[in-house]
Parts: sequence; structure tokens; C-alpha cells
Amino acid sequence: MASVTLKNVYKTYISKKEEVKAVRDLNLEVRDGEFMCLLGPSGCGKTSSMRMIVGLEDVTSGEIYIGDRLVNDLSPQDRNVAMSFETYALYTHLSVRENILFPLRAKGMPEIECEKRLKRVVDMLEIEDLLDRGPSQLSGGQQQRISLARALIREPEVFLLDEPLSHLDVTLRTSTRAQIKHLHDELKTTFIYVTHDQLEAISLADRIAVMNFAVLHQIGTREELLDYPVNRFVADFIGEPAINFVECTLIQDNGHPVLKSNHGSLEYSIPDKWRTRILNRGGKHFIVGIRPHDPHTDDIGDTTKLTGVVDVFEFLGEENHVTFKIDGDTLTVVVSPYQFYKVGDTVDFFVPDNRVHIFDAETEECISTTYKLEDGE
Ligand code: ADP
Ligand code: MG
Repeated sequence: MASVTLKNVYKTYISKKEEVKAVRDLNLEVRDGEFMCLLGPSGCGKTSSMRMIVGLEDVTSGEIYIGDRLVNDLSPQDRNVAMSFETYALYTHLSVRENILFPLRAKGMPEIECEKRLKRVVDMLEIEDLLDRGPSQLSGGQQQRISLARALIREPEVFLLDEPLSHLDVTLRTSTRAQIKHLHDELKTTFIYVTHDQLEAISLADRIAVMNFAVLHQIGTREELLDYPVNRFVADFIGEPAINFVECTLIQDNGHPVLKSNHGSLEYSIPDKWRTRILNRGGKHFIVGIRPHDPHTDDIGDTTKLTGVVDVFEFLGEENHVTFKIDGDTLTVVVSPYQFYKVGDTVDFFVPDNRVHIFDAETEECISTTYKLEDGE
């Protein structure tokens, strides 16, 4: 087991004489034994980051440490980091058994040790009956497990998984996800898991690192990212259903600062504790963010009333989703499985004022809630 630390890491590719900045100033500390997810849309630099950690790609600048060893100049074999690839990358001319043993054979490991390790991963991943097959005789899910086995048999200090579930169908994805979680619990090795799927990240990770356009935006637990997103991108990327945004303008109502919707009739009176921070911005344009789980049908006090007309009602079993319009703004709210609405109904919801997120419309930075500031203001 080992921690992984990236300090000011950059990756620039030269492609057809053009520079592609794939990773910019990445600073990341993955704790010993932690399950970290690197989450972000396609092309944001996740795979490049993983390939630099494992040693398949040089860093353009910056430092990578495994434990306290600087590994920039170490070959992949000397880093004790294993990576399981999105495409599985199995050797078609070798049996499953030889595919799994490949990294040990390459090191010239004695047969007896090979067999011992093989038994361990085979038991862990329940793949005994696949050993004599060829990769072409395996389903996608089975290939995925063999690819995991081949990485795990090295008994690495750090285990990197790059979108391991992206080629599996939904049912298999859920069961393989559970198996990966279980593997981590059992091995207690440091895992770095790459995905573009926030639900995967939320269900697996101890902490999530959110990237976009080569830049790391925020690292935090699921709760920290949901409740204290640093900016609009993070707020939007994490959470299901997605957060609602309402474009607003700052006005004064009898001396109270109020954010008034540009396209509808929503009016949000800014709580005292956030006033100074918002007024100090000097700007007039803000975005109000409301998570679909936050509004309720009861007014519990210190709330903002949301009155609208139901546009869509989705009956989903465990929870229902109501989408309603407040003039030109559309909001989705999650209600209990026992609450039903008809299209065209007028509805009232109440969102607690301190659950509302406020973003600067220009910089998209979140200025209402920041967990580091929350107590000290
Ligand atoms: P992700 O894994 O998040 O989808 P990648 O790390 O694969 O992102 O890619 C980040 C950016 O770098 C993309 O714009 C991609 O096109 C570019 N890129 C990746 N690998 C190379 C390469 N070998 N040569 C040139 N550009 C690359
Ligand atoms: Mg990738």
C-alpha cells in the first residue's frame, strides 16, 4: 500500500505541430488505502493522468510520488503500480491463465509463487472455470474480470482502474461495481478509479476528484461536493437529478438584497450570513442553484416559496420527480413515492434559504456555501 501524490503536474502532447494541454497543474494527494475516483467528462485528462502515474507517459513537468518515492524517472515495472485498461487489452493468442500470469512470467517469477498468486486472484474474482479458455470465448464482463485479475496478480501498492465498467451492460455494471468495491475492502490497496459517470463515483469512492478541461476543480467526499460545490461545473456534474439553475439579478427590496429571476417570478431574499460576501462582489448577475432534493411541500420557516405549474410528472417507484415551470424557469423537485401530481396542477414548494447555492454569473464560482468558510465566515 502507498499514497500517491501529484505536484504541479502538467501534460502537453504535440499533435500535428499543435500543443494539446491534456493536464494542467494537477495537485492531488491520494491517501494510503484510499478509494479515489477521478471524475470528469470525456477528454478532460483522466487517462493521461493515470498513464503518467503508472509510467506509460512522461510528465511534461511536475512531480509524482508513490509513497515518498519520486517516480518520475522510474520505469513502469519499478513503480509497483498496476493499471486495468478500459479496453481490457488481453492477448488473444494466450489462454486466460497465461494472460493473468503474463506480468509474473515477464518478471521471471518462480512457478510455485505464480501458482500461489494465481489461486488468490482466481478465488477473489471467481474465475476458476474460465482459466483454460481463450479471450475470444469470453463475454465482456468476463474479459473485464480477467483484466482486473491480470493487474491484481502483481500485488501492486497502487491499483489504477480506467473506466472499467464503460463497456458493460447495465446489470453487469452494477454487479461488477459491487465486486470492485468488495475487492478494495478486501485488499485495502490504494485505488484510483477513473470514470465519467458520477453515480459510479458516488457509489464507490471515499473521495472524488472532479476534472474538466484538463483542470482539477475540487476534491471532496460525496457530501462535500453536493453541499459545497466550488463552482457551477461541479454543482452541475454531481447530483441526480441534476441541480436546477435560475439566472437572477440582484435588486434591493425595502433595503433587503434580493435575487430576482431574469425569466420568471422567483425572488430569493439573501440570508444575512451571505450578504456581505455577495454585495462585495460588486456585480449584479448571479445564478441561484437549487438541488432537487431540497424543496419540500411544508413551510418549515426561513424558506423561499416556489410556485409553479407542473410540466412533467415522473413516477419512478422509489421517488417521484416533478418538473414545474415558474414562468420562464423550469425546476425539478424530488418527492416521495406517495406524492402524485397532474400536468397543469399549480404547486407550491418551499426551499430552505440556507440550502440554496449562489453562483457568480460571470466567474461561475460558488459564493454562498464553502465548507472551509462556513463556520468562520
Ligand atoms: P479522458 O481520459 O478524460 O477522456 P484523455 O487523458 O484521454 O482524457 O485526453 C485528454 C486530452 O488529450 C484530449 O484532448 C485528447 O484528445 C488528448 N490526447 C490524449 N492522448 C493523446 C496523444 N497521445 N496525443 C495527442 N493528444 C492526446
Ligand atoms: Mg479516458
